[in-house]
Amino acid sequence: MSVPTTVLVLASPGQGHVNPLMILSQRLVEYGCNIIFVNTESIHNKVITSMGNQEGGFTEQSRIKLVSIPDGLGPDADRSNLGELLDSIMKSMPAKLEKLIEDLRLKDGVTLSCIVIDVVVAWALEIARKIGIKGVLFYPSSATALALQHSIPKLIEDGIIDSNGLPITQKTFQLSPSFPPMDTTCIWWAKTYPLLHGNEIFNQFVHLMQTVEPPEWWLCNSTPDLEPGALSYTPKLLPIGPLLRSYEDDKERSLGQFWEEDLSCINWLDQQPHASVVYLAFGSSTLFDNKQFAELALGLELANRPFLWVVRQDSDSDSDYNNKVSLPNEFKGNQGKIVKWAPQQKVLSHPAIACFVSHCGWNSTIEGLSNGVPFLCWPYFADQFLNKTYICDALKVGLGFDSDETGLISHEEIKDKVDKVLKDGNIRSRAHVLKEKLLNNLKDGGTSSENLNKFVKWLNE
Ligand code: UDP
Repeated sequence: MSVPTTVLVLASPGQGHVNPLMILSQRLVEYGCNIIFVNTESIHNKVITSMGNQEGGFTEQSRIKLVSIPDGLGPDADRSNLGELLDSIMKSMPAKLEKLIEDLRLKDGVTLSCIVIDVVVAWALEIARKIGIKGVLFYPSSATALALQHSIPKLIEDGIIDSNGLPITQKTFQLSPSFPPMDTTCIWWAKTYPLLHGNEIFNQFVHLMQTVEPPEWWLCNSTPDLEPGALSYTPKLLPIGPLLRSYEDDKERSLGQFWEEDLSCINWLDQQPHASVVYLAFGSSTLFDNKQFAELALGLELANRPFLWVVRQDSDSDSDYNNKVSLPNEFKGNQGKIVKWAPQQKVLSHPAIACFVSHCGWNSTIEGLSNGVPFLCWPYFADQFLNKTYICDALKVGLGFDSDETGLISHEEIKDKVDKVLKDGNIRSRAHVLKEKLLNNLKDGGTSSENLNKFVKWLNE
């Protein structure tokens, strides 16, 4: 009997990074691989806690083994300071990863075939090279975001951005003739500056592109129907999307979630009319200020439709990831349900869902598109603005919100856009056609299915 191929998957500490890598891991298990899934210790603890009250969950017999490495920060450190966190990871994790791999070999007799590496921790490619095993990078956002990242020197040379990565003037540009024209608002790393107080993400990319030898493959959660230009632009980019969770095996249902899924919302959805519910979720790190939060609540009240709204709350109420907000007195919420964390993919595939008010994180984008759900886009950070442009202007399966002169999205605007998107038959039918196209990629002979076959064949060589 042949020994199963063992793959180490190294995730960076973000929900939008762990989720697609976990789905990829589950796919690889279907091909007979064993997976060592490595999170930072603080994320590992969240993942294990989130599975606490569910039946099943991770079992020792599972072919996915969850392990962790400390991120180098103290137990009380502020991990929402992304720059500091990534810096600490880069300094302290490489040696610990090497030690983990050595221990796996000596103590458990595990020989790795490959490391699948989240792009944020791309330094691990050098470790794979050093120990003589395969290494691939996984890019958790769109191929277009990666193409922009690859084009940083060209964008500087062409006078589109300065050496700090900021757009010089607002204008339209084209990365290559196969790309649609883009506006400088798509320079997505510039959208991280206000929140991170500087160009840390940009500097990390420049460092990455200068120091890391190109990998054999870049895996990404996309498809040629979605991003033909971008996929042909970056060499060795292998689209394997849409990466969607399989809910057939309930035992594995929440492997990788940072918060416990509130499954009661599925029973609630079962009682709502077909295509009636507005689903609102803003991913794992969006924070609202109280005024905007109140306006959103009043907008839902005014829209007078059933809604399911995810308002994230950590058990530690002082956590920097927490939304420190409260519902206005006028809000009754009789038509809706608020949960702390939803089984999002299950929610989006429910027939009661009518539209998705989303922050447009790439995973949420892919999940919404794969379920044919029209979008109302409310981007917050980084690539979410680029994804919004994509959803509204290129794919035309959603609408954005307009803010007033103070930057606030008013409750009337929220009601109007909900009404508008729900009445728009063209958006709905385009979303439906796109869903079919995306899902065809996963069928036998589909592009992503063939790409995954190709990848596994290469793994086993
Ligand atoms: N998600 C979820 N339940 C929620 C909200 C989000 O399971 O209530 C999942 C969602 O399905 C997606 C991930 O969390 O896979 C969020 O990733 P995304 O890239 O959309 O946003 P990020 O959290 O990185 O901003």
